[in-house]
Amino acid sequence: MPGMHAMDDFLNAEGLRAALGPATGCDHCAGLQCAGWESVTAPLGAPLLQPLGTLRDPAIDEPTYLERHAEGTSFWHARAPVALTHFPYNRCTVWRCPQCRRGFLQYTEAGGYYVDHRVRAIDPALIEA
Ligand SMILES: [Zn+2]
Repeated sequence: MPGMHAMDDFLNAEGLRAALGPATGCDHCAGLQCAGWESVTAPLGAPLLQPLGTLRDPAIDEPTYLERHAEGTSFWHARAPVALTHFPYNRCTVWRCPQCRRGFLQYTEAGGYYVDHRVRAIDPALIEA
């Protein structure tokens, strides 16, 4: 069906940009202020957000844990590049606001004794392949 997406649909940079609206948001998604990564108590989903697909490339068995940083930014920084082929972006699921199409990324960090659900709004200007 046109316009429908499944969670295992792989999105590259081009597909991601095409599916998303600007990073400004709307009344529906205004509660999500997460320009950089933020921890949430549980993964976010419908009806707040609509699933778009995944950034995990099915052709790669074990996505890299290498991170990519721009000058002056760090992992948690609001202006950190959305580096699609680097950690953690290469393991993220992609969501968007059904009203304004603002995009969000989510992944779960699992340590030995904890899991940490993380969400970050997508500023299309920060997307790097
Ligand atoms: Zn919105």
